[in-house]
Amino acid sequence: DLPKVAVVGRPNVGKSTLFNRFVGRRVAIVEEMPKVTRDRKEVEVKWSGRSFTLVDTGGWLSSGTSLDDKVSKQSEEAIRSADLVLFVVDATVGVTEEDLRVRDMLHKVGVKDVIVVVNKVDSDRQDPLIWEFASLGFGDIFGVSALHGRLSGDLLDAVIDRI
Ligand code: GDP
Ligand code: MG
Repeated sequence: DLPKVAVVGRPNVGKSTLFNRFVGRRVAIVEEMPKVTRDRKEVEVKWSGRSFTLVDTGGWLSSGTSLDDKVSKQSEEAIRSADLVLFVVDATVGVTEEDLRVRDMLHKVGVKDVIVVVNKVDSDRQDPLIWEFASLGFGDIFGVSALHGRLSGDLLDAVIDRI
C-alpha cells in the first residue's frame, strides 16, 4: 500500500483547493460557502519519484454540537489510518474555536504525524500571520497558498520527506 496523507480541517479553509493543487487537476469540489464535502476523495499523487495516496476528508456535517460529532466515521477512519495529516487552517481568519476542536479530535484519534498547513498566505506580506498557529501545539507549520500554488511545491517536498 502507498503511504496515506489525509487533508483535515474545518470547512472553508481550502482543503479541496489544496487537494486539487496537489493532484494537478480539479477532482475535489471547491465550495464558495462552508458546506459538506459529501464524498471522501482519494487520489494517487506522484512527486519527486514518490507516490502517496491523498485523502480529502471533508465529511463534516453542517451542524452539530461539536466537531467531534461532526466528523464522519469514514473521515475518522481515514485520519486514523493516515501516515501523515495535513491540518489545514486559514491565515486570514486566525485560530478559531473549530480549529481547536479539530486539534482535539486529532489528539483523540491518535494520529501518527501532523503538519499544520496555514493556507491563504497569498503573498509574503502575509507570512507573519503564520506564527499565530504555533499555539495549536504541533511542531511543523507551513504557510502556503493553495489557490495560487505559492510554496505548495515546498510543502510537497516536506510531505515526501515525512512519509
Ligand atoms: P474546504 O471547505 O476546506 O474544502 O475549502 P475550499 O477548497 O472549498 O475553499 C474554500 C474557499 O477558500 C474557496 O472560495 C477557495 O477559492 C478559497 N481558497 C482556497 N485556497 C485559497 C488560498 O490559498 N487563498 C485564497 N485567497 N483563497 C483560497
Ligand atoms: Mg472541501
